[in-house]
Amino acid sequence: MSRIVYLNGDYLPEEEAKISIFDRSFLMADGVYEVTSVLDGKLIDFAGHAKRLERSLAELDMQKPDNFDDLLEIHRELVRRNDINEGMIYLQVSRGSAGDRDFVYPDASVKPTLVLFTQNKPGLADNPKAREGFKIISIEDQRWGRRDIKTTQLLYPSMGKMMAKAAGCDDAWLVEDGHVTEGTSNNAYIVKGDTIITRHLSNDILHGITRAAVLRFAREAQMKVEERAFTIEEAQQADEAFVTSASTFVMPVVEIDGAAIGSGTPGPVAGRLRDIYLEESRKAAV
Ligand code: PLP
Repeated sequence: MSRIVYLNGDYLPEEEAKISIFDRSFLMADGVYEVTSVLDGKLIDFAGHAKRLERSLAELDMQKPDNFDDLLEIHRELVRRNDINEGMIYLQVSRGSAGDRDFVYPDASVKPTLVLFTQNKPGLADNPKAREGFKIISIEDQRWGRRDIKTTQLLYPSMGKMMAKAAGCDDAWLVEDGHVTEGTSNNAYIVKGDTIITRHLSNDILHGITRAAVLRFAREAQMKVEERAFTIEEAQQADEAFVTSASTFVMPVVEIDGAAIGSGTPGPVAGRLRDIYLEESRKAAV
């Protein structure tokens, strides 16, 4: 059965949702996106994703879609229509189509394109990978300099995932000037003793919505948090490592560039944070 997707005000079967070949997200990667998880048929961290979307749009001088204030209802309607219990909702806004190709932004009469679709993922929370942990390779961070904006320029992260796959691993951590920035689609952490270490916020990384929640829960649970850059060597000698994102929640990392992290099995801090995150996020879901 085909999905019902949302395109510029309409709920349509996926085969009927069409956008112009001149859409700037297609020609220029001139688009921003968000991924919100669904657990128990409810949205996780919706307010954070909506706020970051608003910021991404503002940073790129992109118009807000007219129905920006209806986004919560649109998400909920898609969950209902596609009967999603566990999964994700992908949302993309592009600068729209001016009916031709031009580097210059079109004027305000060209309306943004708003697309949302669901991804049904039964078992998202009870992911067996969380019991095994991720194996990571490190690669050079060759992305653009505004990684705080969640744009659809995902070719390099996609290449990174392919490099990881070719090496028999699950993901890649990106390294710039000798320090880890983040994962291809997640924020990166190490644990040393009783301290959780993750890179500080700047234009160098995406300000993860899961990161913000996990650090809040960690501090509430009296865990120590240090927001600073770290190297691959420091990570390889850490007691634990993990990543966070909206779709993987808290995912332990057990190997980096062939070196086992700690015992080489998922660590207790990552496990505890995953449990707290899932429990608290389910309670706060809308
Ligand atoms: N960093 C990058 C580069 C990402 O692409 C993502 C998610 O897609 C994240 C971090 C995690 O962000 P969030 O927790 O908001 O999903």
